[in-house]
Amino acid sequence: MSYLQDVSRAAAESAESEHYSKLLAAEKARIESELRCRLDVLHSGQVPMEDQAPVLHEQFVSIRFNNLAYEKIKAIDAALERLSRGEYGICEECEEPISEKRLKAIPWTGYCLQCQESLANGNSSQPFHAQAA
Ligand SMILES: [Zn+2]
Repeated sequence: MSYLQDVSRAAAESAESEHYSKLLAAEKARIESELRCRLDVLHSGQVPMEDQAPVLHEQFVSIRFNNLAYEKIKAIDAALERLSRGEYGICEECEEPISEKRLKAIPWTGYCLQCQESLANGNSSQPFHAQAA
């Protein structure tokens, strides 16, 4: 009985991780193809002198986009690695489970909502529970 329960739970968990790994892989592929499109635009031949300003602007926007995209790809790779280690869905900061709602919205996140907010506020050197006191 308990053996069967264990087996069915393991099956449910692997279906879950399979679901997230597909989701993450699809998102990564989407970002990579978007990056390729943007690089094609940037390297698409000579630009007349009078058209250079908008191109520079486009390059600036692209560089910004590329940085964000690379950051996201790194986050997705890290999430895939956590999946393979069976640590997916655990906050890297406080080691509490990340809510399923949050994982559905941002499957590549490595932090629970509280830690993410704490990091975003530039308090990464101090754990947020310490500040609550
Ligand atoms: Zn956390």
